[in-house]
Parts: sequence; C-alpha cells; structure tokens
Amino acid sequence: MPPRKPSSPRPPAAPAHKKPVVVSAEAKEGLGWLHTAKFLTSSSKIHQLPQGDMPEIAFVGRSNAGKSSAINTLAQQRQLAFASKTPGRTQLINLFTLGLREAPQAFLADLPGYGYAAVARGKKLVWQKVMADYLEVRRALFGVVLMVDSRHGFTPLDIQLMDFIAQRVKTGEVKLLVLLTKADKLTRSESKAATDAASAVLADYATETSDIGITLFSSLRRIGVEDVAEQLLAWKKAMPERVHFEIPPMPEGEGVDESGDEVSDDESDEEG
Ligand code: GDP
Repeated sequence: MPPRKPSSPRPPAAPAHKKPVVVSAEAKEGLGWLHTAKFLTSSSKIHQLPQGDMPEIAFVGRSNAGKSSAINTLAQQRQLAFASKTPGRTQLINLFTLGLREAPQAFLADLPGYGYAAVARGKKLVWQKVMADYLEVRRALFGVVLMVDSRHGFTPLDIQLMDFIAQRVKTGEVKLLVLLTKADKLTRSESKAATDAASAVLADYATETSDIGITLFSSLRRIGVEDVAEQLLAWKKAMPERVHFEIPPMPEGEGVDESGDEVSDDESDEEG
C-alpha cells in the first residue's frame, strides 16, 4: 500500500494583503491610523531623538520574535520596518510618525531586538543601556507593545524589560500589550497553554491601575491583527494632546550605519 500523503493541518497561507477581511469599525479605524505610519528618523543615541511630549508607542521584543513583521502588518506597509533592518542598524531606535508627518498624533518607536543566543555579552550590555536610557528619557512613553514568540513564552530578557517598565506599568502611566507572535504555529490547545502561561507572568505586574493586554498574533495568518488595531486605537483615544514637540528634518544620509554593528541574522526559523 502506498504511504498515505500526510494531510496538511493548515492550508497554505494566502498573502495577508489578498485575504478578504471582515473588521469592526473600530479595527478599521485603528488600521487606518496605523497605516499613516511614516519613517521619521533613527538614532542609536536617545538624546538625538526628537524631544517633547509626543505620546509614543514602543514596539519591543527579542530578535526574531516577529516585531518587524508585526509593524508592517499593522501598518499595512510591506517595507516599513524591514527598511530599517539593514545590517548595522540593530542598535538603532527607529521612529515613525502616526498621523500627518508634519503634525503627528503620536510616535511609533521600533526598538532594537534583543537576546540572540549568538550575541556577545558586550552587545547585550549595550542593549540594556539603550533600553534603560530609552525608558528613562522618553517620558512621554504611552504604551509598550511587547512581542513574545508564542512557542517560547517570556524569556529572561523579556522579564528584564518588563522589570524596567514595571513601575510605570503598575501605575498605568505606561500601558502594555503583549503579542504572542507566530500563533499560526500553535494548535488550539497550545495556544491556550501559551496564553495561560503568559497571563500568569503578567499577573505579577497587574494592579488596579494597570492596563495590560495580551493577544495571540500572527502576521502570516492575520490572527489578532484587528484586536491589536482596536486596542491601539483605544490608546490613541486616551492619549493626551501633544503640547510641545519638534519634528526634525528628514535626516541626511538616511540609512547610514552609526553604530558600526553588524546584524547577526543567523537565527532564521522561518516559517510558513
Ligand atoms: P524581528 O526580528 O522580531 O523583527 O522578526 P521578523 O519580523 O523579522 O521575523 C522573524 C522571522 O519570523 C522571519 O523569518 C519571519 O518570516 C518569521 N515570522 C514573522 N511573523 C511570523 C508569523 O506570524 N508567523 C510565522 N509562521 N512566521 C513569522
């Protein structure tokens, strides 16, 4: 008897942009807002970022957790985050405007990925410094979107990052949304287990004033995209009106590597 062709548990994914999507009005509005994202500037030096009180949403996560894909998917722009993922830019903070570039409503910050097994200790220390400085200096930080690979759960560096922001999360000053990424790789029961495990970790940070969300997410299969769009729209609506900010001119030599670092993109586990 010929061997049976193994049945595919999931059909091959259609490109996300070709899928018909039914979305709520809120999700639609949120996606429309996120679609306005435009690259503003990038720097490895926190003090060179535009100063002011523009509310900021920071995307953070371990390298390879799916952060660039998530930003591109949410903004419905193929190259938004990948454009800044060229070699040498790993330690850069990339800033995007939301709303009109000249009169934005918020900044979206794409923070350096962390935690490659291969990354040297020195680079980890650099990351920790960048992160600590960022959270210290960017007082208008409104929310953090943390990408956690749904198959791995929180890593020690994720917890370290959580601890950097714990105080401001507990008071509700900084809102937190955890995306359990690549959820397309999990079965239903694995998804539940991943959500339960992550919720247990987040319980340590939850208070009466905190605003912490968690959602299964997949850029590939568009899982959770509308939920995240709704959530980020709710953040937008809760944001204070910015009073003072400076928009720098488009930097000259955009794309220049300031840090001299190399991207170690050696952990490709992709995916489909
Ligand atoms: P980053 O380093 O956190 O910015 O991660 P990337 O967005 O570059 O993604 C890292 C790897 O994970 C790439 O090989 C992506 O193709 C893959 N990936 C990202 N999002 C998904 C997803 O939703 N599902 C699956 N299966 N793979 C994904």
